[in-house]
Amino acid sequence: MSDKKVILVTGGTGLVGRGIRAAVEREGPREGEQWHFVSSQDGDLRDRDATEALFDKIRPTHVIHLAALVGGLFRNLKYNLDIYRINSQINENVISTSHKYNVQKVVSCLSTCIFPDKTTYPIDESMIHNGPPHDSAFGYSYSKRMIDVQNKGYHMQHGRTYTSVIASNVFGPYDNFNPENGHVLPGLIRKAFDAKADGNPFVIWGTGSPRRQFIYSLDLGRLFLWILREYNDVTPIILAADEESEISIKEAADLVVNAVGFKGEVIQDTSKPDGPLKKTTSNAKLRRLLPDFQFTPIKQAIQETCDWYAANPDKVRK
Ligand code: NDP
Repeated sequence: MSDKKVILVTGGTGLVGRGIRAAVEREGPREGEQWHFVSSQDGDLRDRDATEALFDKIRPTHVIHLAALVGGLFRNLKYNLDIYRINSQINENVISTSHKYNVQKVVSCLSTCIFPDKTTYPIDESMIHNGPPHDSAFGYSYSKRMIDVQNKGYHMQHGRTYTSVIASNVFGPYDNFNPENGHVLPGLIRKAFDAKADGNPFVIWGTGSPRRQFIYSLDLGRLFLWILREYNDVTPIILAADEESEISIKEAADLVVNAVGFKGEVIQDTSKPDGPLKKTTSNAKLRRLLPDFQFTPIKQAIQETCDWYAANPDKVRK
């Protein structure tokens, strides 16, 4: 088999895709690797014909599958059905077309949101299907869980190495900074910048007490490169920072206030919902395979993200 790898990254223009692209640029593409980062402009993956046309054009040997309708708590609560249907359609098209075009390896991206709501901590990879997910994101969660079902099926029936990673809360440049339909950390960043500009108080939604294991998109990008090249197990692997690095939303907000240089009043709107109180995951499998990986300290990663936000008003999704 030739060493040439033609790598198609679906959802390549989003937060995670940009993190992978930055990791490739930082270390320089390896010899024989050809990268294609695509967006919905290159083909609407809800559509079977458009999906096949994209595969026909690029002829990938490897696929990193990121494309999805993604949102935080508030978007999920409002659009569970749409998110379930659209993401299931995209996943079915991308994975079955990969099989049809003889793609050697597919790495899809699951999320720690999809784990059972009632569980023991820390959560590990073996627990995905052990009970219903949190009701706030049931559509997103079930569509993601079915990727794992497909991967197992393609392996058992066709010997394919189609696998997945489970990422925790990702943030970084090119995130969706809209507080209504994006994730918590970019939402806090946007609100802090707006409050600073307008001279208003900075409002944290919810009690601030839920705890999250945030991961910087550039770290996730570096880990994706390793997965693509070295990880050949079909079962998923959690890509999360160490458990001790989990922080509360309030602590995250404090880091944002510092990074943005916001000096005004900070208040909490406890009429807004919290979502799951914690989702602590174990990265023991990752640490067993890659013990020396260094995560960027969260303070530095938040500062870099805020600096990117301030320097790129034309690129910020809000
Ligand atoms: P973004 O919203 O930043 O990016 C989504 C990407 O998917 C964009 O490139 C978008 O293209 C593409 N896309 C959406 N709909 C379609 C479509 N119909 N056809 C083709 N492409 C489409 O998402 P993230 O980078 O945050 O997420 C990437 C993956 O990582 C997702 O699978 C997500 O579930 C997973 N993940 C994300 C986490 C997070 O905290 N953000 C946590 C865990 C997992 P366009 O811009 O043209 O619309």
